[in-house]
Amino acid sequence: MISPDHPRYRSLEVRERLAWFAREGVVSPEGLAAHGRGEAFDYLLGEKTTESALLAERTAAAMLLSARHPVISVNGNTAALAAREIRYLQKATRAAVEVNLFHRTPERVAKVTRLLEGHGVEVLEGEVERLIPVSHDRGWSHHDGAAAADVILVPLEDGDRAEALVSMGKSVIAIDLNPLSRTARAATLTIVDEVTRAIPAITRAAGELSPGECERLISRLDNSNFLQAALDEIAGRLSHALD
Ligand code: ATP
Repeated sequence: MISPDHPRYRSLEVRERLAWFAREGVVSPEGLAAHGRGEAFDYLLGEKTTESALLAERTAAAMLLSARHPVISVNGNTAALAAREIRYLQKATRAAVEVNLFHRTPERVAKVTRLLEGHGVEVLEGEVERLIPVSHDRGWSHHDGAAAADVILVPLEDGDRAEALVSMGKSVIAIDLNPLSRTARAATLTIVDEVTRAIPAITRAAGELSPGECERLISRLDNSNFLQAALDEIAGRLSHALD
C-alpha cells in the first residue's frame, strides 16, 4: 500500500494498478515496458498538460464531433488506465469503441472487453478480419471499427498501424507522450499528454465546442507545431533543470 504523502504517489499508484492488470492478463508484459517509456517523457514534460497539448485536445474533440464515423481504438494499457474516462468520451462523441491488441488472443480481447463494459463502455463485438495492412495482430478490425472510421483516436498506438491508417486516408489522432515516436510523427494530430489527462480533456472540450469553433480548430491543424511545442517544452525544462 502506497501512502498518499509519498512525493511520487500518483506515479507509484499507476504502476501498482498496471502491475495488477498485468497479473490479470489485461496488460501485456510489453505494455509495462511501454508505460515506462511514457513515464520518462511525462517526467520530462513536468507531468502536466501543456498549453499546446490542451489545444491539441480541443482539436481532437472538434475532429471527433465532426466525423461521420468516429472510432476509439483501445489497447490493454488504455483500458487499464482509463476505462471510465473512455465511457464519458464515447458518450460525448458517439464514437464506436473497438478493442485492438498487439498481443492479441481471444482471452485477452475478452478480458479487455469485460473491463470496458464493466465501466459502461459499449464495445464492438463479433466478427473481425485483417482489414488494416500491417504484418501483426493490430491489423484485425471489425467492419464498423478502425477499417470503417473516417476519424480514429488511437491512444498508445504503434507506428506501423498509425502509418497504415493514415495511408488508408483516415484522420488519425494519437495520444503519445513521446513526440519523437513514429506514431507521433505519422498521425494527423498528436496529443503529447498522458492518456488519463488527455481523454477527460477531450471529453470536456467536446461538451463546449460550437460547430464554428470545430471548423476553425480543424482548419488550423498543423501537427508539426504540436510536436515542436512538446520538444520545446522538454528542452526548456532541461535547460533550467538545475536552477
Ligand atoms: P512507435 O512505433 O510509434 O515509434 P514505440 O515503439 O516508441 O512507438 P510503443 O511501445 O509501440 O512505442 O508504444 C508506447 C508509446 O506510448 C510510447 O511512445 C510511450 O511514450 C507512449 N505511452 C506509454 N504510456 C503512456 C501514457 N500513459 N500516456 C500517453 N502515452 C503513453
